[in-house]
Amino acid sequence: MSLSKEQVITFIDTFAGKVNEHKTELTEYDQKIGDGDHGVNLDRGMQKVKEKESTYADKPIDAILKDVGMTLVSTVGGASGPLYGTAFMKAGMSAKGKDELSAQDILDMFDAMIAGIQQRGKAVQGEKTMLDALIPAKNAFDESIKNGSTIPEALEAADEAAWDGVEYTKTIKATKGRASYLGDRSIGHQDPGATSMSYLLDSLLEASKEGDDSGESPSDDDTVGIVIVSHSQKVADGAKELALEMAPTARIASAGGMKDGSIGTDLQKISEAIESVMSDAGVIMLVDLGSALMTSEMAIETSENPSLIEIMDAPIVEGAIYAAIEASIGSDKEKIKSVLKRAKEDPKF
Ligand code: ADP
Ligand code: MG
Repeated sequence: MSLSKEQVITFIDTFAGKVNEHKTELTEYDQKIGDGDHGVNLDRGMQKVKEKESTYADKPIDAILKDVGMTLVSTVGGASGPLYGTAFMKAGMSAKGKDELSAQDILDMFDAMIAGIQQRGKAVQGEKTMLDALIPAKNAFDESIKNGSTIPEALEAADEAAWDGVEYTKTIKATKGRASYLGDRSIGHQDPGATSMSYLLDSLLEASKEGDDSGESPSDDDTVGIVIVSHSQKVADGAKELALEMAPTARIASAGGMKDGSIGTDLQKISEAIESVMSDAGVIMLVDLGSALMTSEMAIETSENPSLIEIMDAPIVEGAIYAAIEASIGSDKEKIKSVLKRAKEDPKF
């Protein structure tokens, strides 16, 4: 389990979206204890990053993160520019040479970000800054990974710890940055930088879940394939379309008409349709009348795995829909057969 480059790009894109969405809110927090520019500042920088995003597909992870950092330093006014900028640049340096990020790489990245922010801003935990979200997030991630969690699970823990950190900033006095000028009057307000840092953790968590299909329906190759055979290509395609509407992940192929488009059934077309959805789970065929049945039987006999393929006696439209729904939730051929039997007895059940 690791984070891919695509997920890193998704993370950056999601963060830009969240900063933009919460720009006013972040600025309002900064109005209470600072100069009221944090949301606007960070949004300016992340929008600039977004403009450069199309160039990221060709860059390695370290170069992408460094570019984000440089862009933030040069476009964000206020303390958060150099602080976030350094954090991203250091994250990039720690990811040097990596095509993907393991849990250890992510931990190293968090450490590098914290070290960078501390090198620039000289703050420690408990001074009401972005570190009060990032340091607990890193600790929670570390602990969670040590307890055997996956990366998304550990990032979930990190994200929660970051938001707990935001709550904590309400209870303490700012001793760094502009908010420190307020002294005790800063107590009771949440820190804008800790808040934006928690949106960063939200974004990383979301990106880690994207493209992670563990624990979902069985992999495509394990599901029963469905072949619809009709004398008419339009009928076969229409039945497939309807079934996919109900079960978008089902593996369905349609074989209709002759090669020249005329009405009929073509052995080669049917054989190719079978091959395109064949798997160890087998293939179920739904066919219309007369030669459709004969040509389909020939296609089965001449296939490499005749024992895995069965023609079902069910109406093709209703049958395709029921079979697709069952197949897409991982039902085996026997289960699908029993459902189709019912569909034949009572097609509108
Ligand atoms: P400025 O305070 O210069 O207007 P921003 O409003 O953009 O900058 O950012 C303010 C946030 O920056 C604060 O809420 C705090 O989280 C963070 N911050 C300020 N100073 C420091 C520091 N020395 N170390 C870490 N974070 C800091
Ligand atoms: Mg400010």
